[in-house]
Amino acid sequence: MTPQPGATPAIDHYAVMGNPIRHSKSPLIHHLFAEQTGQAVSYEAILVERGGLADAVAAFKEEDGKGLNITVPFKQDAWQIADRLSPRAQRAGAVNTLAFQTDGTLFGDNTDGVGLVRDLTGNLGITLTGRRILMLGAGGAARGVLAPLLEQQPAALVIANRTIERAEQLAESFSDLGELSGMGFAALQGRHFDIIINATAAGLRGKVPDLPEGVIHADSCCYDLMYSSEPTAFVRHARALGVQQAYDGLGMLVEQAAESFQLWRGVFPATAPVIAALRRQ
Ligand code: NAP
Repeated sequence: MTPQPGATPAIDHYAVMGNPIRHSKSPLIHHLFAEQTGQAVSYEAILVERGGLADAVAAFKEEDGKGLNITVPFKQDAWQIADRLSPRAQRAGAVNTLAFQTDGTLFGDNTDGVGLVRDLTGNLGITLTGRRILMLGAGGAARGVLAPLLEQQPAALVIANRTIERAEQLAESFSDLGELSGMGFAALQGRHFDIIINATAAGLRGKVPDLPEGVIHADSCCYDLMYSSEPTAFVRHARALGVQQAYDGLGMLVEQAAESFQLWRGVFPATAPVIAALRRQ
């Protein structure tokens, strides 16, 4: 039905699903995007019990929901239930964005990696091409960001992980995309990197990966995927070693959200004011 001139536009519903979800910043980010772009959307956070994603997604679709963000621990479940995947989601083995299509199918995308690259290169002005990158961690987040990082053609990318086999396997499964290798933390002894990305979950317990002395040095650029209102453990650790360029993952969070928003709404919001608003909180 064509809306009458002057009528209030129908509101489209979106949400983020995860467990835990109470502290998610996604509702605030998407409300700010909607306000800025004049889009009539609502966005809520939904707590889903483990094993319950498929039912929760089906229920949201029944309520005429238009799209979802998916966060820990459901990104792989979302990958399983999507009818169709973007190439980057296919490669990542994980989905953080779902869009309900008009033909009734469910499209899955992964915007984490492009969000990270956009924050590093666009917001922070860091060149990835030709640089030596160290990625700490070999879990879901590391897997999700590898392909977009390798697309930037770094000189080398080393994945180091506490469980060595996981780093080796991850390097092996992306080896067609660039120069990369997997190893344990001890094998980093004596190596030098331009950019060090912490994709471990160590920070959730206030810890940092146990790296040999000298791996992080004053002219390294350090980036923590984790974010919090206080500097994260990894950012604090890097600064204590004299690092000037140490950043948390808040910019990545906003950039991946902007990619999702564009997928759903066809408009890319300005991210800088939203990052600034979140930093002020
Ligand atoms: P995950 O799949 O559970 O993987 C956890 C990784 O951390 C594994 O490689 C694990 O090593 C490692 N790890 C855990 N505790 C450690 C410790 N004490 N020392 C060293 N390594 C440790 O988690 P994930 O989904 O990849 O998430 C990783 C981080 O990324 C989280 O902090 C998450 O909040 C963040 N993240 C941020 C964004 C953003 O938008 N900014 C997006 C996605 C994720 P093992 O293999 O040895 O267990």
